[in-house]
Amino acid sequence: MISPENVEQLIRPELKAMKAYTPIEPTDVLSQRMEVPAEKVIKLDGNENPYGCSVRVKQALADYRYYHLYPDPEQRELRKALAEYTGLSSKYIIAGSGSDELIDLVLRLFVEPGDKVINCPPTFGMYPFSTDVCGGKTVNIPREPDFSINATTIRKAVDRRTKAIFIASPNNPSGDLTPESQVLQLLDSAAIVIIDEAYSEFSGVTLARLVPRHSNLVVLRTFSKWAGLAGLRVGYGIFPPNLVKYLMRIKQPYNVNSAAQVAVLESLKDIGYLRGTIKAIVDERERLFTELGKLDWLKVHPSQANFLLCSVLNGKAKTIHQGLQSKGIFVRYFDTLQLKDCLRISVGKPEHTDVLIAALREMC
Ligand code: PMP
Repeated sequence: MISPENVEQLIRPELKAMKAYTPIEPTDVLSQRMEVPAEKVIKLDGNENPYGCSVRVKQALADYRYYHLYPDPEQRELRKALAEYTGLSSKYIIAGSGSDELIDLVLRLFVEPGDKVINCPPTFGMYPFSTDVCGGKTVNIPREPDFSINATTIRKAVDRRTKAIFIASPNNPSGDLTPESQVLQLLDSAAIVIIDEAYSEFSGVTLARLVPRHSNLVVLRTFSKWAGLAGLRVGYGIFPPNLVKYLMRIKQPYNVNSAAQVAVLESLKDIGYLRGTIKAIVDERERLFTELGKLDWLKVHPSQANFLLCSVLNGKAKTIHQGLQSKGIFVRYFDTLQLKDCLRISVGKPEHTDVLIAALREMC
């Protein structure tokens, strides 16, 4: 029998050397680790929607009768509903198991080992992660100190091995939007430009309407944030129709499960509820911004998303992160080249803001 060591030798060497993605942990794990009862955990680390999905979604999930059957591989009903929601025909749309799957899928379509993918850190970690899995090479073009991208520099970095450029707008973790003029500059290149609009509903801005006019523009969206369906894993992409054809061919046939499809269809029927939660989150973001701004040791960056990035000016970001954890408050901590001593705080309910601010005041 082959030894475990020899089995490992069969693994693609570049994957053995690959850095793992750092995901967030679920509430029960956090609760056990910090010995805080689960109902006391304040989870502000995943940009999730604290209000959850509508009661109508829960009822529709309970009433659905076909869990024993495979879902539609062509996602017809789902794509039709997404077409109505986006105002674009379903020939532009394909859904995935979270937008994470679509990031992976689009890279699998284009990236051969050694091909390049442009990434603009600080940004969402799945772009380099999925590039690595495909054997591609991430070319980092860091953002400016104010987190804006420099389209001219990016354009100059595009060469014949460059297949894709990823821009999150609003960006995670900085929360800023990339202006349309900058995106248009990028579109005037030979690479696929992927605009990740995971937080679009909080900014009210989308470039989806540009897709029919540009053969190299892709817009990614998700139901994880604004629609409160992170746990069901459903996102979608708006692609030029010729790419949809190939993506349909390479995707797993049943990639969006029935529960996710039911939840999306019912969410879109109860859009008034979701608009209400978006408004509550955006209002709360402004209050949180004001309250955090009163702490003179924090610099809060303006955000168009459902989180706020804060630079901790006294160098104690790690201590504060740990101090909050011990009180059951979980936020995201960054200490990277581009993000020194930073915390990213997801917008919660008003009562979460109150507890967080009181804890921060106590700590410094
Ligand atoms: N894009 C960005 C910018 C994100 O921040 C996230 C989630 N953290 C995603 C995509 C992935 O979302 P999903 O849950 O749809 O996979």
